[in-house]
Amino acid sequence: MITFVGAGPGAEDLITVRGQRLLEHADLVIYAGSLVNPGLLSLCREDCEIYNSAKMTLEEVLDVMIQGQAAGKEIVRLHTGDPCVYGAIQEQMDELEKRGIPYEYCPGVSSFCGAAAALKAEYTLPGISQSVVITRMAGRTPVPERESIRSFAAHQATMVLFLSTGMLGKLSEELILGGYTADTPAAIVYKATWPEEKVLRCTIETLEQTAAEAGVTKTALIIVGRVLEGEYDRSKLYDPAFTTEFRQGTSSHSFDSTSAGTERSGQ
Ligand code: SAH
Repeated sequence: MITFVGAGPGAEDLITVRGQRLLEHADLVIYAGSLVNPGLLSLCREDCEIYNSAKMTLEEVLDVMIQGQAAGKEIVRLHTGDPCVYGAIQEQMDELEKRGIPYEYCPGVSSFCGAAAALKAEYTLPGISQSVVITRMAGRTPVPERESIRSFAAHQATMVLFLSTGMLGKLSEELILGGYTADTPAAIVYKATWPEEKVLRCTIETLEQTAAEAGVTKTALIIVGRVLEGEYDRSKLYDPAFTTEFRQGTSSHSFDSTSAGTERSGQ
């Protein structure tokens, strides 16, 4: 069996229990060496065959999988975060399908969740934003024109930008042209959940300068939006006056729709 496994954002103990068990039992592991924490490989058996896909093509990865499968091996294909975002797993799954090779998919904690934890932030705050746009600047992989940063910025929703740390000047420009004000809060989270994690709070306007001052050029996420500000309406779900499927609301407390937020200290 081949299983695609999300390794989590970095910290070795942020892989799922299922992912850990799969690694412990694997005969063969192909891991994305550019971002997966190599410390996770210490979970593997001594005699486990290990391949670093950072040095391989899709064809080479498939060859290793196909031969391993034919030899009856338990195979783990280990991807950073959760493979469903920028994981390049569809092309692998499709090739396996074509050959009738069975596979499973074990999810992981994506780095955008790791970054929220690093920021101690909630991306969806009542009255501020109820949506999260996950996107990237176009690089060598193009982004369809209808998904331009500018068009998403017009929604003023929370945005999480992958793979864009080398283009922060252009990113700020596009966000502002799209409709965010220059002083909208932003953050750069470098290597979320790794021991060397850095959390840099800034504004849209100061993204490039902030990254340059901290020497951050890659392996970072950019988070943008007023959810980073600390002003919001409290939730309906936990409001004493609000009745839910599980709890009868009381009329003695009224819902305070004014800001329940507290100013967060910066940096
Ligand atoms: N599937 C992965 C993303 C792979 S794309 C996931 O779910 O997280 C690689 C990009 O993800 C990097 O360029 C960076 O933008 C981001 N990234 C991955 N791990 C990260 C981490 N620990 N901290 C911050 N950004 C990270």
